[in-house]
Amino acid sequence: MVVILERSYLFPTYNKFPLTLVKGNKATLWDDEGKSYLDFMTGLAVCNLGHVPERVKMRIQEQLEQVWHVSNLFHIPTQEELAEKLVTISCADLVFFCNSGAEANEAAIKCARRYHQRVLENERYEIIAFEQSFHGRTLATLTATGQEKVKDGCLPLPEGFVHARFNDIQSVRSRITQKTAAIMLELVQGESGVHLAEPKFVLDLATLCKEKGILLIVDEVQTGMGRTGSMFAYEHYGIEPDIITLAKGLASGLPIGAMMGKEKLRDAFSAGSHASTFGGSPLPTAAGLATIEMLMEDGLFERAKKAGAYALDKLGNDLKTYPVIRAVRGLGLLIGIEFTEPVAPIIQKLHQNGLLVLPGGTHVIRFMPSLYVTNDEIDQAIDILGHVLRELDGSTN
Ligand SMILES: *Cc1c(COP(=O)(O)O)cnc(C)c1O
Repeated sequence: MVVILERSYLFPTYNKFPLTLVKGNKATLWDDEGKSYLDFMTGLAVCNLGHVPERVKMRIQEQLEQVWHVSNLFHIPTQEELAEKLVTISCADLVFFCNSGAEANEAAIKCARRYHQRVLENERYEIIAFEQSFHGRTLATLTATGQEKVKDGCLPLPEGFVHARFNDIQSVRSRITQKTAAIMLELVQGESGVHLAEPKFVLDLATLCKEKGILLIVDEVQTGMGRTGSMFAYEHYGIEPDIITLAKGLASGLPIGAMMGKEKLRDAFSAGSHASTFGGSPLPTAAGLATIEMLMEDGLFERAKKAGAYALDKLGNDLKTYPVIRAVRGLGLLIGIEFTEPVAPIIQKLHQNGLLVLPGGTHVIRFMPSLYVTNDEIDQAIDILGHVLRELDGSTN
């Protein structure tokens, strides 16, 4: 029995879909009336292994029997192990754990500023971020975010953030000053509509950062943990960021965030200079360990790469006849379908037809299925989309 209250006592921060999802298994979610949905949004690119993956569930259950919380004033074995694992699978050497993507980016901003101010003893503090980017909802990260709508009514904003044009190295050059501490970048801008960084731009940016002693922060909160067909998106570009931030897919649905950095950044922090009560606590770190084990052992990046290529190809072929579709693009299983009109009504129809997807910006539908997605499930999703588009076509003629 699911009880829906007559009146919600929540602050109205979300425009909620009219659905109550009460159960999940792999690629399927069920609502409170027993209707099933094919899930191509995975709780905002969080459930990369599908819903309730067995191995992660078992690790959480084991930990649940042991201890839930002791605080970061003590050693936490699963936290140490997850840090070691993250260092092994990435170009980073050190990890700080927190609870969300925004917090991971906050830690990255503090790390960059403290590295310059405490380690190099200069006075750099400015962060260059990009137009159309998304980095979170805390005051610093919404200031870094390159979209005006998230800043509305929040003035005054923290100082020290400027924005450059995405994929435009000249624009970045023109923003660099004596005060530039770091550049913060999403390699695929997810929230604003799946915009891919161009390989040459990224290489030029990495070179520019080295030349100027500027730290490169790559926000992999959405692109990390296998989503783009490699463990981290930076691997596609042949660069090594100084700082990488993670959150969404890291613990398969338990709240966690991580800021990872190169060894040279170690002394940016000292005891007491940064902290989090819940960060890296036993349950999410146990879930994170099992998540990475599944990603590695099941060869999920390869699967994601192949499934992503299959989906892009099929979307291109099957949907090119619809004039409302302007473009299809993606990296691995982070795919955007751009429309000539706002997608909200289309998304509503897709949900009614049993396919859960998410917008990216106003004109893009994001396909972000589980990394275990089968070609059959991709065919099913594209069939539903085709069906809805034909229906819409019919209704406007
Ligand atoms: C979702 C997201 C964030 C914010 O993560 P929260 O956990 O909601 O704070 C930051 N950066 C990127 C790229 C994201 O997609």
